[in-house]
Amino acid sequence: MDSRVYIIKFDNWGFMVNLMNKIQILRKISQTLFFVRALIVTGFYLSIVGFIKRFIIGDRILATIITKIIAIVLAFIAGRVFCGWMCPFGFLFNLVYELRVKLFKLKKLPTVDEKIHNKLIYFKYVVLILVVLAYLSGVKISGYTLAYLLLALFLVLGFIYPMFFCRYVCPVGSLLSIFARFSIFKLKLDENKCVGCRLCERKCPMQIKITEKIDQMECIRCFECMSVCKKGALSFSAFTKNTKKE
Ligand code: SF4
Ligand code: SF4
Repeated sequence: MDSRVYIIKFDNWGFMVNLMNKIQILRKISQTLFFVRALIVTGFYLSIVGFIKRFIIGDRILATIITKIIAIVLAFIAGRVFCGWMCPFGFLFNLVYELRVKLFKLKKLPTVDEKIHNKLIYFKYVVLILVVLAYLSGVKISGYTLAYLLLALFLVLGFIYPMFFCRYVCPVGSLLSIFARFSIFKLKLDENKCVGCRLCERKCPMQIKITEKIDQMECIRCFECMSVCKKGALSFSAFTKNTKKE
């Protein structure tokens, strides 16, 4: 008996396009709802510093505690779903890079030089350590001006390079990446179906080399790659490995 468990796998292209469109709509709805919720919970004060502090260090607001537990459990099960579906800042950074794609009619998302990118992705772990150290040593960072300056800076950087903050800086993303490393459901590539067109890589906002090695720790489960793969070579599944070329 085939013990593999699939949640998203397709052989029929028409069915796949339909389903992926629905998943993208669902993702947009989820992102919007969580964004509105964040606005209400914070009294319209969207502070990156506050967000990091609440998530990494914690606070006593029940809604935050529940969101944090959900994000970590989801990371264990399916990876960084929080980043792609729930994070209010992820939503904003998603919007700005999509705006750039629309304005400049881009066919391929802008990329950072490969060597620099491969080093920069580790910077967010340094930020995570710094945040914990700052907390332990009693350093307090706050202020409206700083919050909005940081948001503006990362929105501009996110306009130039998709999800810049999420890729390189966010300590919440780095914390969830650690759990995502062991996630049950993973994004997989079937090398027998892949024709090497790299359409998926052109659309990946996290600049993952999907056709070489899918970095599950970096993947934010946006499923943009699956939406553009015309060969159905990508699947999101549990208990399976990448299918090697026969
Ligand atoms: S879009 Fe599909 S077929 Fe093309 S490179 Fe990516 S996985 Fe392979
Ligand atoms: S690999 Fe696919 S699901 Fe993961 S971040 Fe890139 S486009 Fe999104």
